[in-house]
Amino acid sequence: MEAYNDAWFSFTFELINTYDPYYEEPERLGSLALFMELLNKHVLPSAKLPTSKDLIAVHSYRDKFRDLIRTATDEELSLFLNIHLSRAPIQSSLSATTYGQFMYVYDQPDGTEHSLVDSILSICSFVLGMELTKYGRSRLKACASAPCEEMFMDHSKNGLQRFCSKRCSTRYHVKKHRQQNSQ
Ligand SMILES: [Zn+2]
Repeated sequence: MEAYNDAWFSFTFELINTYDPYYEEPERLGSLALFMELLNKHVLPSAKLPTSKDLIAVHSYRDKFRDLIRTATDEELSLFLNIHLSRAPIQSSLSATTYGQFMYVYDQPDGTEHSLVDSILSICSFVLGMELTKYGRSRLKACASAPCEEMFMDHSKNGLQRFCSKRCSTRYHVKKHRQQNSQ
């Protein structure tokens, strides 16, 4: 069982992929309404309504992360995630599951002291940090089926996953097949 919330994971990966060069208009998070929709879809606690300033901060985090994962050193990447983690720290508490078994449950208190955007970006940094510690940086990949650049975690046993989805894999192989036949 995952020791942290699946909703956090799916939210984080959907968020970092809201810039998508697959589309003619790559910005998929272009309005506050879309931002609200994304929060609600993943049932993220949001007692406060997001503002356009929050949206700008989220865009900037996403773009910076996408850039760092391609170009930064491991230390620079850690530093970036740590800055966001420290703004709204995640708390862990021990929970008893079944006889003699325990797990850590991660949570972020609803406190009023953190801004919405600090809470959200701390959750994203926590998830990305968890994935990096568990699987290593080489497993955080970008889809190899251009123009898709979707980022995903390769959770496969052999670590050979190259595409974000079955659809992209099919598209890639069809294209390759056609190129070979036309030569
Ligand atoms: Zn893809």
